[in-house]
Amino acid sequence: MKGIIVRERLNREKSEELFEKAKGLFPGGVNSPVRAFKAVDGCPLFIACGDKAYLWDEDGNKFIDFCCSWGPLILGHNNRGIRLAVAAQLGKGLSYGAPTVLENTLAELIINNVEHIEKLRFVSSGTEALMSAIRLARAYTGRDKIVKFEGCYHGHSDSLLVKAGSGLVTLGKTSSAGVPDSFAQQTIVIGLGDSAAIEYVFSQFADQIAAVIIEGIPANNGLLIQEKGYIKFLREITEQHKAMLIFDEVITGFRLGIGGAAAYYGVRPDIVTFGKIIGGGMPVGAYGGSKALMSMISPDGPVYQAGTLSGNPVAMSAGIAALKQLLKPMFYEKLERKTRGMVTAVQQHITQQGYEVVLFSIGSMFWFSFSTQEVMRKAEDIDPSSMHRHKLMHKILLRCGVYFGPSGYEVGFVSSAHTAADLRYTVEVIKYALGQVFQEDIVQ
Ligand SMILES: *Cc1c(COP(=O)(O)O)cnc(C)c1O
Repeated sequence: MKGIIVRERLNREKSEELFEKAKGLFPGGVNSPVRAFKAVDGCPLFIACGDKAYLWDEDGNKFIDFCCSWGPLILGHNNRGIRLAVAAQLGKGLSYGAPTVLENTLAELIINNVEHIEKLRFVSSGTEALMSAIRLARAYTGRDKIVKFEGCYHGHSDSLLVKAGSGLVTLGKTSSAGVPDSFAQQTIVIGLGDSAAIEYVFSQFADQIAAVIIEGIPANNGLLIQEKGYIKFLREITEQHKAMLIFDEVITGFRLGIGGAAAYYGVRPDIVTFGKIIGGGMPVGAYGGSKALMSMISPDGPVYQAGTLSGNPVAMSAGIAALKQLLKPMFYEKLERKTRGMVTAVQQHITQQGYEVVLFSIGSMFWFSFSTQEVMRKAEDIDPSSMHRHKLMHKILLRCGVYFGPSGYEVGFVSSAHTAADLRYTVEVIKYALGQVFQEDIVQ
């Protein structure tokens, strides 16, 4: 443990006080469930401010942040370019409910750089983008069923809160109370990476399937990196049956490079959804595709979709300022090199120590899997009983000033704001934490 600071315990007095109060105000004390820290120890940390790669909580603890607001903050906190752009807009009013040049600018930044998108529509969240994309696919194909993969998250709209039923291929079951069974029955859920399952689904429901939807790189339930050949196969089979292929690039869009997962695979999806990074930290989502497809959307076409704050000028300003920085030469190469440096150092240590843990990584995303399985492609590869190790690691990392998303199923993100020193420190902290995890685990 080279030069790392390990606190005996984390002072959470103020966070605890605020959380107690919040519990009286919000279900579970939070406005999005995973923030409640239920999968890890202690109460959630109430954040006072963020700058560059760091977060400070209300008790004055400082952390190197690898949650990065769950992905949007590829430029870190309080990025100067984004801050100045937002500040410039603030003096001009916050919302007009009428078109602005800012929407054109952000749309052009996306359309001119992402090959398969000719037209898009801005919304205010990833959930909204996915919900609209599904409606569009259904309208365009005149079919109702969609196929999704177990372990892929696409926001919380009714059609997508569905999990696999029992049996090889079944119509889905709702994964939330309040979703009608009749909705879930329109969603077929299968395992990732399973070509036979999708062939079977098309053999049974070919003329009913509107779309197959997949995360660019499944990264909401561990990091389940798919084979390129499998994604190409999804493209072929959907084309063959005249179903749409939807890439949910809410995480991977402008994360895995400018062209996202589509460019990475060399596959052209019919509809792409964005969120997170394109808003630069403000609430923005988007969905897009070919001109013909997007002409289905109102007011051009019969698919209704609207939003009071869609294309919000402050959010557009943030998005523009973010994308302009991402489009600079070598941005992604530098970010990936940095990430690889950290990941490789940790992996070497894991090998040396013979720990039962694998660090998966692609682009600037990473995920620890407490198992020896070197290839993980589907949700059921993840052993829920390994999560107690994540919990231990999370607690130790916090005590050393490193903040990961508060669940073992969440991936970590590296931002351009992480310095070489931040990452070196983090490597030492992770080495220490893994040592403790495997030691404590044996003792227990
Ligand atoms: C975050 C996420 C969503 C939902 O976006 P929200 O802005 O939280 O509604 C959808 N799909 C994927 C792949 C995501 O990671």
